[in-house]
Amino acid sequence: MSRREELLVEMGLGPVWRLKNAPAPDVKAEAGWIELKQQVPACTACGLHKSRTQTVFGVGDEHAEWMLVGEAPGAEEDRLGEPFVGQAGKLLDGMLAAIDLKRDENVYIANVLKCRPPGNRNPEPGEVEHCTPFLKRQIALIRPKLIIAMGRFAAQTLLSSDASIASMRGKVHRYEGVPLIVTYHPAYLLRTLPDKAKAWEDLLFARRTMRSL
Ligand code: SF4
Repeated sequence: MSRREELLVEMGLGPVWRLKNAPAPDVKAEAGWIELKQQVPACTACGLHKSRTQTVFGVGDEHAEWMLVGEAPGAEEDRLGEPFVGQAGKLLDGMLAAIDLKRDENVYIANVLKCRPPGNRNPEPGEVEHCTPFLKRQIALIRPKLIIAMGRFAAQTLLSSDASIASMRGKVHRYEGVPLIVTYHPAYLLRTLPDKAKAWEDLLFARRTMRSL
């Protein structure tokens, strides 16, 4: 705070946030969130808007250092409007707890697609293309220190790659300069229990990477 600002505060003329020595609110980011939260529920850019119950925006700390990106909402997410609920969500919460993360506190979770593909089919390229700008905007607003891409669609979308999950694991990639680590999607892990150990390795790798940043 400059001397002039300090004097204004002492005189009771400074803004309230200055009085508490709190960091300046990022007005631009706040406006960006408000705009985005209006745009997503109103979006009809791809055919998925016709079958959705609601859009699934994302959840968590908008100032988090950690960001997790998944694929698309499933039936429960479509019903409740929150990503990663149900069995896959429980597994994810357990994985997060293992590295001291909690969805409402210090991590932000979002999907590539904001609407549910019918029957939980794979996202189509056109849907990903139309929806990815929302995710990119979320990342730009959050400015995480580390991104974990969960599953093939998240990893391939953010890295503009068609490589397999197996070949992308265990490395620090970059998305717009932000370190990005690839692991399996929790829904896949529910079907393929032996790969849970690999996902655990990925999380430990992510935690080591975060500590080194
Ligand atoms: Fe819009 Fe994304 Fe929903 Fe398609 S999936 S309608 S692009 S919000």
